[in-house]
Amino acid sequence: MPRPRPTAIVQCTEPGCREVSMRVYDNRTEQREDSKSHKSYKCLKHARPSEVLSPERRTITTELVNQPGSMSLIKDKCFWGEPGLPRSGFVYGPGFKAFAGDFPIGTVLRITATVELPADPNMGGPPAEFAACAYRFADAMLLARDAQREEGK
Ligand SMILES: [Zn+2]
Repeated sequence: MPRPRPTAIVQCTEPGCREVSMRVYDNRTEQREDSKSHKSYKCLKHARPSEVLSPERRTITTELVNQPGSMSLIKDKCFWGEPGLPRSGFVYGPGFKAFAGDFPIGTVLRITATVELPADPNMGGPPAEFAACAYRFADAMLLARDAQREEGK
């Protein structure tokens, strides 16, 4: 029977934040090396707040430019990315896919996400109840982590 892979439950270090990340490693060495990053871990909401939609921030637009690759081997290929940062020849999201090679250099891919709140804000229950449920799950994960640490002592 194969040994279970090592795991870690890491909590966001932003004061007051209760978001957690579950990590699975191939081995103990990888787990040990990653443990250094736990002290500075920030959840997505705190690491990249300008990219997170919320009831207050309902629209976010991102622009990627089609440009040639930056290394000599791929200078004849097209990549989407911020100006000067060619990253990917293929970009996708819900409802769209875009191959950079199908468009001329200089093409701008503008991606907009917009949230429309329901007319009745209490439809489906108040968001606070969903957040409380997510935090109960996060708390259970942290308890499991602490119990694992106790077993390891
Ligand atoms: Zn956070």
